[in-house]
This record gives sequence, structure tokens and C-alpha cells, in this order.
Amino acid sequence: MDTRVVQAQQQGVYEQAAQMLRDGELVAFPTETVYGLGAVATDEQAVAKIFEAKGRPSDNPLIVHIGTTEQVEQFAQPTALAYRCMEAFWPGPLTLVMDVKENVLAQNVTAGLTTVGMRMPDHPVALALLKAAQAPIAAPSANRSGKPSPTRAQHVFDDLQNRIPLIIDGGRTGIGLESTVVDMTQTPPVILRPGGVTKEMLTRVIGEVKEAKLTDAKEVPRAPGMKYTHYAPEAPVYLIEENPQKIAQALAALADERVALVAPASCKIEAPIRISLGEDIAANLYDALRACDETDATLILVTATSTGGVGSAIMNRLEKAAGGRWYQTTV
Ligand code: AMP
Ligand code: MG
Repeated sequence: MDTRVVQAQQQGVYEQAAQMLRDGELVAFPTETVYGLGAVATDEQAVAKIFEAKGRPSDNPLIVHIGTTEQVEQFAQPTALAYRCMEAFWPGPLTLVMDVKENVLAQNVTAGLTTVGMRMPDHPVALALLKAAQAPIAAPSANRSGKPSPTRAQHVFDDLQNRIPLIIDGGRTGIGLESTVVDMTQTPPVILRPGGVTKEMLTRVIGEVKEAKLTDAKEVPRAPGMKYTHYAPEAPVYLIEENPQKIAQALAALADERVALVAPASCKIEAPIRISLGEDIAANLYDALRACDETDATLILVTATSTGGVGSAIMNRLEKAAGGRWYQTTV
């Protein structure tokens, strides 16, 4: 299958893409978080193509995207707190896990769970597509499973060429990290995946919110995505503090390796391969991790960041990319 990449500004793009979705095809499109791979969420066969194209395990449910807040009641049963979240954060990078209504969505969207994760994206291309399609769109990130999520149309093409028919190119995504996922069926609500909408922001609107820990085995079944390796470049990744002495020691000890140092602009240390996270780490993270695969690096050192605000989402992704490994130094 040939993969076409069309510019979002091109005449007739949305009508064409919407028709393909209605015909049961997949369309990749930008959102404010990362690029999504969409299928009509009521079409079981179309949704199955998402799992196949991504190589995604079938027990990992998909997020359903809607174009207006009102649509949520067709598919889910929001709690009072869920309504407050929608009011405060939609459209935006917040996925609400709610009880699903029976027999309105394809079974494979929710991977057989009794809950569904839904959000209204805050991106003109995503919203225009949802409007043209007049249907809920199931859309996980448009990468091969396990790879860093795509923040450019080129990333989608690199991962999914010949597996999907159409990519709408809307330029770089803004936030660069996936949405925050909150389980609203629990009291207090539980953050299953940190993201652009932070714990602090949620607390201000709905009061107490808990965080699911990656290591908490009890929480794993609540967020099936948490148990898989994610966001990983080819070479092994190690986290390291952004401390010049520690980094210098690590580089000296790793003289036999081709080390790629992935660090923000504030870090001035030279390394055999230097990949910058710039000033906006969230926005540049996946691009930087993917750039590692274009080098001959045999080992990747990524500097850790503080866990305040969106830092907690960044560290969540980095811990997964590194499989929890930190490079040990003696200084
Ligand atoms: P992705 O679409 O690739 O960004 O991943 C979506 C994330 O949301 C995964 O970690 C899923 O496990 C999680 N998710 C989606 N729907 C649900 C649900 N009903 N319950 C719990 N987690 C969900
Ligand atoms: Mg994903």
C-alpha cells in the first residue's frame, strides 16, 4: 500500500480523509500532543487495522477522540468531576477514563474493558477532521508500538509507510508528549499517565488526585499501556543527572562506546555525539530520541529533568525509554 502525505492546507483534504475513514481506512493526523493514527471508533474492522499497523498488543485500549464535548454522553457515562474536567481542560491534552456505554463503540477500542478513555483534542487539523468525519475517532499515537511517539509527519512516514494510506501533514505538534490519562471511575481520580495537564492543574479543579506508580503491580491492569516498553531508540538508554562531573565521569568510563549525549541547551558538555533537547524538552524529546537512531551511537545517555509540572510527564517517558536504568557514577 502506498502511503500518501498531504498538506493540511491543501484543498479538499478533510472531505477526502473523512471519506477514507468512513470507508474503514486509517488516517494519520496531527493533534496538539503527538500525531494520531485514526479509525472510526464504531468500526471494529477499521480499529483492528490500527492494532495491526502499529504492532500494538490487543489488550492495550485506544483513546477515542471527539469533536464536541456534547458527544461524550453518546459513548460514556461521565461523573460530576469528569464534567468539571471537560469544562476546564477540553479541548486539550487530557484523556478521561469513564464507564463506557454498552454496544456503542467497537469492542476492540476498549480492549474488552468496561471503561473508555476519551478526549477532545485542541488542534485545528484534528478538529476539522473530526467535524468532517462526523464520527468518534479512535486514535493512538501514530508510531510503531514501542517507538517514540511521532511529533512530525515525517516520523509517521518513517514508522508506517506502506502500512497506512494517508498522513495529513500539519507541521510539528506543539506539546510533544501524549495526553494526561486520568481514571475518573476511581475516588479520588487516579492519574494513569502524566502529561501536559499536570497534577497541580487537576487538583485546582477537582481536588484530590492520586498518581498511579509504574511499579505498583495492582495499578497495572487499570492502565494496560503501562506495562509495555515505550519510546525507546535502538541503542540502550541510560538516565544521568545533569551534573557536569557525573557526565564527564560517565563519558570517560564509556570511552569504548559511541555515546550519544541527549541533553538540554543548558548543558554545555561535549560528547562523541551530541543531541540537543533545546529549551522546550517536552516538545523536542521524541525528535531527539528518534535522532539517536540516525547516528551510530551504541549507548545513549539522557539527562534527567526536575519532576515539577510537566517534568513529571517527561521523566515518566524517559524512565520507560531507559527501562528504569540510571548510569551509576561515583561522584
Ligand atoms: P496511546 O494512544 O498510544 O497514547 O496510549 C493510550 C494510553 O491510554 C495507553 O496507555 C492506554 O493503556 C491508556 N488507556 C486508554 N483507554 C484506557 C482505559 N479505558 N482504561 C485505562 N487506560 C486506558
Ligand atoms: Mg502510544
